Amino acid sequence: DARSQGGRRWSQFDQGMIHAVERRHNLASDLRLAIERDELRLHYQPIVDLASGRVVGAEALMRWQHPAHGLVPPDYFISLAEQSGLINDIGAWCLDTVCAQLAAWQADGLDIHVTVNVSARQIPDGLTPAHVVAAAARHGIAHQRIGLEVTEGSLLGESAATLEWLDSLRQAGFRVYLDDFGTGYSSLAYLKRFRVDTIKIDRAFVRDMGRIASDRVMIEAVVMMASGLQLKVVAEGIETAEQLAMLRAIGCHFGQGYHFSRPVPPAEFPAALARIASLGDAA
Ligand code: C2E
Ligand code: MG
Ligand code: MG
Ligand code: MG
Repeated sequence: DARSQGGRRWSQFDQGMIHAVERRHNLASDLRLAIERDELRLHYQPIVDLASGRVVGAEALMRWQHPAHGLVPPDYFISLAEQSGLINDIGAWCLDTVCAQLAAWQADGLDIHVTVNVSARQIPDGLTPAHVVAAAARHGIAHQRIGLEVTEGSLLGESAATLEWLDSLRQAGFRVYLDDFGTGYSSLAYLKRFRVDTIKIDRAFVRDMGRIASDRVMIEAVVMMASGLQLKVVAEGIETAEQLAMLRAIGCHFGQGYHFSRPVPPAEFPAALARIASLGDAA
């Protein structure tokens, strides 16, 4: 009858929920060991100067090489790391690994900058300016080659401590990027209050700019405004030659996306650079 059916539905629901909670719990406790077991990886996605077609930098994007689940994307574990507070250890590992990579590239004659994503949880005490200075010094990396990507959301606190975090990083010569621009609110007010070096236009705008006129108009407006404020703009998620041509025509400074390269492990980075260089030849 209806009651027993209802009962069965509930018990199935409960079981499903228990499994989801267990899975989450297991993943969270696995994550605790991921650093010491050397399971975290950084992939690098080239950032291209759109006018010249040259690669000027890369964004470091984290993956977790899980022994049972394979390569886990960040959307599945970054929030877990944030909730458990592990994000501070993971973020420190990320920064140190990026600095080591920059030193290795520098030794190979490759002078590019790298950006690192920073979670709201890490600001201002999880990843202090002193931590960043120490990581750069450990590997002999010039500060201007390290970029920190923050989102509007992570600056939402608007506290004096957040502002001080931002200012002291910039005063030390590190670059600050505003990630996923256009997806939060009060973007314009934020640009005035929080001084950043570069704006990254969210890929949702780039995706639809060929079909939806308002998305193209917004990108144009952001590029124009940013240029007036002496800021640089990176367009995320460039997937087609058509999008690239439109962004070039608009005068957007930099871009990244599958059209150039997916995020790749360090071993594949030179091949990605060669592919992008040959795109430039064809243009
Ligand atoms: P994000 O910082 O906005 O990174 C851009 C995301 O877009 C990346 O996803 C990248 O692989 C993807 N992407 C790049 N080009 C294209 C394209 O042409 N088309 C499409 N469809 N996607 C493209 P990913 O690597 O899965 O990272 C997702 C998010 O996870 C990042 O968004 C960032 O918020 C977070 N994340 C990644 N690594 C870290 C990290 O080390 N620390 C922290 N706190 N967050 C991280
Ligand atoms: Mg980012
Ligand atoms: Mg982004
Ligand atoms: Mg994002």
